[in-house]
Amino acid sequence: MQTYADMTKEQLQEELTKVRQIYKEYQDKGLKLDMSRGKPSSGQLDLGMGLLNAVDAESLMQAENGLDTRNYGGLDGIPEAKRLMAGIMEVRPEQVIVCGNSSLNTMYDMVARGMLLGYLGQTPWCKLDKVKFLCPVPGYDRHFAVTEHFGVEMINVPMTEEGPDMDMVEKLVAEDDAIKGIWCVPKYSNPQGVIYSDETVRRMAALKPAAKDFRIFWDNAYAVHHLYGAEKGKILNILDECEKAGNPDMVFEFCSTSKISFAGGGIAAIAASEANLADIKKSLTIQTIGFDKVNQLRHVRFFKDADGIAKHMEKHAEFLRPRFELVLETLESQLSGLGAGSWIKPMGGYFITYETNEGCAKRVVALAKEAGVVLTPAGAPFPYGKDPKDSVIRIAPSYPTMEDLKAAAEIFCVCVKVATLEKMLEA
Ligand code: PMP
Repeated sequence: MQTYADMTKEQLQEELTKVRQIYKEYQDKGLKLDMSRGKPSSGQLDLGMGLLNAVDAESLMQAENGLDTRNYGGLDGIPEAKRLMAGIMEVRPEQVIVCGNSSLNTMYDMVARGMLLGYLGQTPWCKLDKVKFLCPVPGYDRHFAVTEHFGVEMINVPMTEEGPDMDMVEKLVAEDDAIKGIWCVPKYSNPQGVIYSDETVRRMAALKPAAKDFRIFWDNAYAVHHLYGAEKGKILNILDECEKAGNPDMVFEFCSTSKISFAGGGIAAIAASEANLADIKKSLTIQTIGFDKVNQLRHVRFFKDADGIAKHMEKHAEFLRPRFELVLETLESQLSGLGAGSWIKPMGGYFITYETNEGCAKRVVALAKEAGVVLTPAGAPFPYGKDPKDSVIRIAPSYPTMEDLKAAAEIFCVCVKVATLEKMLEA
């Protein structure tokens, strides 16, 4: 395939006329396709039906410590659910509080506690003139929405193939005590699918922040969400590394079963040091008398343990892998060698990131929309929705059927071609 950059203006114009014609043909089909959010497909949700119909109701009444799950009590979770969630995060059960149905909710609460109450006796952030968070970009839009909501100033830190640019992170946290946190998705990052290297995790754990109440928000949302087996997705245990580096209190780790059992109908958990857990419980006990222990036990009965989860996740991978591969094959066959952008093949998680040439992402998303394909808004993976290069597009292949996905991926490629050619001809 000839690279666009090698074409004359006339050739580019000719090519644009051709791809516009193809684009119009797709447009005329009046399709309605959605690749905007990382939702599990209904086939994946069916995998969890055993939670509702294969678990004996009688077996859900009593936890192993004798607690009646149907009644109040057990603020930090039943022991067997702590073990299950600890297994996902590869931490110790005593480092875990099992929470409600959403890890995002738990993260929101942790930021809110920093704001209103302060961590471990430190000044609540709301009393300070300025509070800042580091935001590795591209990242998860809902993380950035939480910090934006609380008026926290967000600073972009570029992602590399090994995780956030640690030179920049180390420098910034050391010199500015207004920096109180960093958002991290350490495994199969949303949206790029980056796996933090051991060096990144060690450097993260060994940070020397100017702020005593600086925290790493370690959102291990895709801890067990492998497409090609667990081996490729191994990361170091951040709690252990922080402890070894003399920073035991510097991290909060989060996870949930939202993309293991039911999205929004699972269980979430936070893992942290003993001191942090005690601090969290002080406000948690005011917030709630306890979370849904019946659901906790239901998850334990259905999944049993980390092995049970791993087996279940292989079934999810069987659904997801062909979808990812279909999109990647389409990108490869339609766009490879054109000089119209780049992408990375993720080993797990829920997304593929396409990076267009500078200044094309918004146009691609708008073109796709006009042809009936909804994509995540360009800019969404950046704080304040602003992609400085207007080049990152998050593709979520999990939800559509294979047939819809094929059409959506093809339309996407045509839109990339149109937008790239328009941009080149404009220059
Ligand atoms: N963190 C990340 C990185 C996610 O991608 C998502 C969901 N897509 C969540 C958290 C939300 O998880 P939950 O449903 O447990 O709130």
